[in-house]
Amino acid sequence: MRNAINEQKNYDVVIIGAGPAGASAAALLAEKGRRVLVLEREKFPRYHIGESMLPFTFQPLQRLGLIEKMQRSAFIRKYSVQFVSPSGKASQPFYFFDRYDRDTIAQTWQVLRSEFDLMLMNHARGKGATIKEEVAVKELIKENGRVLGVRAIDNQGRLTGYHAPMTLDCSGREAFAAVRNGWRVGDPELHKVAVWTYYQGAKRDPGIDAGATTVAFVPEKGWFWYIPLHNDLVSVGVVAEGKYLSREGVKEPERIFKREIEQNLWIKDHLASGTPTGPYYITSEFSYHSRHCGREGLLLVGDAFCFLDPVFSSGLMLALKSGVMAADAVDAALEAGDFSPARFAEYATTLRQGIENMRKLVYAFYNPNFSFRELTDKHPELAGEVTDCLSGDVNKDFSRLWKGIREFAEVPEALPYGPPLVKPETELQSIRVAAARALKP
Ligand SMILES: Cc1cc2nc3c(=O)[nH]c(=O)nc-3n(C[C@H](O)[C@H](O)[C@H](O)COP(=O)(O)OP(=O)(O)OC[C@H]3O[C@@H](n4cnc5c(N)ncnc54)[C@H](O)[C@@H]3O)c2cc1C
Repeated sequence: MRNAINEQKNYDVVIIGAGPAGASAAALLAEKGRRVLVLEREKFPRYHIGESMLPFTFQPLQRLGLIEKMQRSAFIRKYSVQFVSPSGKASQPFYFFDRYDRDTIAQTWQVLRSEFDLMLMNHARGKGATIKEEVAVKELIKENGRVLGVRAIDNQGRLTGYHAPMTLDCSGREAFAAVRNGWRVGDPELHKVAVWTYYQGAKRDPGIDAGATTVAFVPEKGWFWYIPLHNDLVSVGVVAEGKYLSREGVKEPERIFKREIEQNLWIKDHLASGTPTGPYYITSEFSYHSRHCGREGLLLVGDAFCFLDPVFSSGLMLALKSGVMAADAVDAALEAGDFSPARFAEYATTLRQGIENMRKLVYAFYNPNFSFRELTDKHPELAGEVTDCLSGDVNKDFSRLWKGIREFAEVPEALPYGPPLVKPETELQSIRVAAARALKP
């Protein structure tokens, strides 16, 4: 039987999840002297997908004081991305140092997430955050529409209420608060499936290209990622429409994966010398958004706020960047003693602007009438903007770029999501949300 509920009220911020979003927000808030509690369901190090970084993760890592540690780490250095046609023909690698400073932004990393996330979590601990692992958050504590903390259960079955003026939801694709508030909405177009695994001893390109990310095409706008990691591991996965991947009734991840290897000669050749090391993973219903970034006392960060198709590896950049932005916004709210939704409007606007810019490029990528080469052949002056957006420098005015892309493909309108929920939900609204959820097939 569960023990009686304990109540703890000695924190300024409670954070759900110690992934990159939660750990970065925790480290910065603790550094500012805030009393931070992070509740993490798993015991670290734990497995996680999402290994390739973008150049513009540099700024949040720098703000966290982690650049030197990254430079000393075993993580593979990434200088470029290349695209490979189904026939196996590789494009000229696209080097970040052709546009950015070679010693800073232009060199990024491919990270084994179990190690990277542990490093971030330990960094937050070192700054003074309290981190409790193997504690799963079960419920938000609410009063008159304001969030006052969470209830969570530890691995002994003990239930505790943790109270704080601010709660950060950094729960990743679980999207804890968005799901429970009925705010989570799928992206209108991006319904892809991914199947992936790891190979030991697979081929690496020589020299500076050894750490490149390769995006290798398969038919019907599907693609492989090929991400070299340390310990001679390669992360390799295929993303496409579910109906393409499961054609002729093939459903098992391993069979799907092995069949797709045959669809790209570069992937086939690079994997030939390697051995698959373990399970085949599968995930679907990729991209989603939250209607709101939070409400009084609550802010959503990282994947808990939005998840975009991983084709351009934007997830870690957005998680770290939003972790930093959330820490600043919450610190200011604590300073002012004001946790009203209006405080977080700018956070939402900035984050959504970046997400929408990346999302436009993702839509173009999947449009059969579009290719980056044709765009830049016709409009060489747009190459720099393409590079900026693909490198994660996403908070810019890209209107010239969208105009150029519209000559080939539709560019989606921005989704009307993000602002914090201002009015507390009335009881009637809550009932409607609950009823709509119950009616969902
Ligand atoms: C197939 C695929 C490929 C990807 N490839 C890339 C890539 O190459 N590059 C890239 O940058 N991104 C990639 N991503 C995205 C990347 O994985 C995420 O964007 C990133 O992990 C987000 O970090 P986060 O901190 O928001 O969430 P997470 O890293 O998911 O962390 C959330 C944490 O919250 C914990 N948690 C969840 N629920 C609870 C709860 N109720 N109580 C307590 N703790 C909880 C979880 O255990 C977890 O540790 C990919 C994603 C997918 C699905």
